[in-house]
Amino acid sequence: MARNRLLEVLERYEAVIGLEIHTEVTAAQTKMFCGCPVAFGGEPNTRVCPVCLGMPGALPVPNGAAIEWTVLAGLATDCDIALWSQFHRKQYFYPDMPKDYQISQYDLPFCSGGEVEIEVDGEGVTQRLDLDTPLLPPFAVRDADGYRVRIGITRIHLEEDTGKMIHVGGSEGRIAGATHSLVDFNRAGTPLMELVTEPDIRTPEEARRFAQKLRSIWLALGVSDCNMEEGSMRVDANVSIRRRGVEPFGVKSEVKNMNSFKALHDALAYEIVRQADTLDAGGTIVQETRHWDASARLTSSLRSKEEAHDYRYFPEPDMVPFSFDPEWIDSLAARLPELPDARRDRYVATFGIPKRDAVTLAADSALGVYFEAAVASAIPVGASRDGQRARQVANWILGDLSAHLNAAGVEIGASNVTPAMLGELVVLVDEGAISGKQAKEVFAATAETGDGPAAIVEARGMKQVSDASAIEAAVRTVIAANPAEVENYRGGKTQVIGWLVGQVMREMRGQGNPALVNEALRKMLE
Ligand SMILES: [Zn+2]
Repeated sequence: MARNRLLEVLERYEAVIGLEIHTEVTAAQTKMFCGCPVAFGGEPNTRVCPVCLGMPGALPVPNGAAIEWTVLAGLATDCDIALWSQFHRKQYFYPDMPKDYQISQYDLPFCSGGEVEIEVDGEGVTQRLDLDTPLLPPFAVRDADGYRVRIGITRIHLEEDTGKMIHVGGSEGRIAGATHSLVDFNRAGTPLMELVTEPDIRTPEEARRFAQKLRSIWLALGVSDCNMEEGSMRVDANVSIRRRGVEPFGVKSEVKNMNSFKALHDALAYEIVRQADTLDAGGTIVQETRHWDASARLTSSLRSKEEAHDYRYFPEPDMVPFSFDPEWIDSLAARLPELPDARRDRYVATFGIPKRDAVTLAADSALGVYFEAAVASAIPVGASRDGQRARQVANWILGDLSAHLNAAGVEIGASNVTPAMLGELVVLVDEGAISGKQAKEVFAATAETGDGPAAIVEARGMKQVSDASAIEAAVRTVIAANPAEVENYRGGKTQVIGWLVGQVMREMRGQGNPALVNEALRKMLE
């Protein structure tokens, strides 16, 4: 689908999007109501016990660490933490649910009423067509890079994950066309946080930014590994459209199976256009769950959507309700680490790096830790020109280093280029020992071999010559050998200087410090 088609639809219709984001609390290490370990993969049905297999008579014991992590997640997203809470049973039949009910939360979730601010910049801004004349809230605020908008969080509750069905012979793991199905209960009972947003999102890009921001907050907290491909973070979207300026919501569909941020964006863009086409043709939207097929790039109907009363929620009789002490909640709040927005602001204020770079570096704690370590090694305590070197460190990380890590499929912590080596490289360039062009070659060699930049410069004889007498000697030779050009320069054709610099560099086999060569040449010509 062409991007323009989405923009054309958004001129007439406003999209209303809410997200439901499930995140496995992998930090809790054991399952929600038993002691089985939480881990991805493994031989099927080996991480199970009578509790998570739903054997008759087995009793659940709540995982205190999982509850603590969920309260921390709520505090990190400005939620109110309930002083009184409890688990409910959600009844439904599906073969991956051994008890035929899921222990979840209903009207008393642990966290509610939060918000998260997102920033949209770049091309994503074009999707928000009402930026200057918003008709209905939530209102976006313009800033230098694009706009900011606050997305409300209805609630975060805790529940247990299901097992996993494997449909043998079905395409894309779906049941259609399968000959038989297998079930693996290793995942059953894993602590699962479900975060539900208010219907405050207006564009596919805002949905993507929200999911990315949330992932960066969860990673900073350490609550989960948030691996979308392995399913430890899963995003479902509710989307409806309404004519611009009209208040009542349209009929929504729920879209599932987006296992990347791009898939989330593309599935929503497809669904908005599909609903508009249906309405334009005089049809009606039915409330249903739809499946995003990433290879066909379309959504298809999965089932009609259940209403809450279909689940017959009732309080879990095997567990007493929870009563939290406000002091306990305060002690958790005091444990919150620096979150991505605060980290971004600190990078801009302390290191003077561009906001866009700061956002990227602060979004991933591993990247941020690397950045700060490299800056510390590039800038001796109390040295001047801090901003200059920090900006160069950021440029290297977001440019050559990221490209290298992507190509090699390596995590930043496992790279051959340590933060200290990157700092060393930045110092070599900043002190004029090597040129920017040479630095690229040194970086590639360090990434390849793991040898430090200074050692590579030494071994390859790349050191830039900054010695004044050596430069002056080369300049004299070039001036003596090119009287016509020198005459031209002195006659006012000063642009010939570039050619003369090139001659000096050639005389010095490319090792002259360009700035010093330039300076010496001008001095001697005048
Ligand atoms: Zn178990």
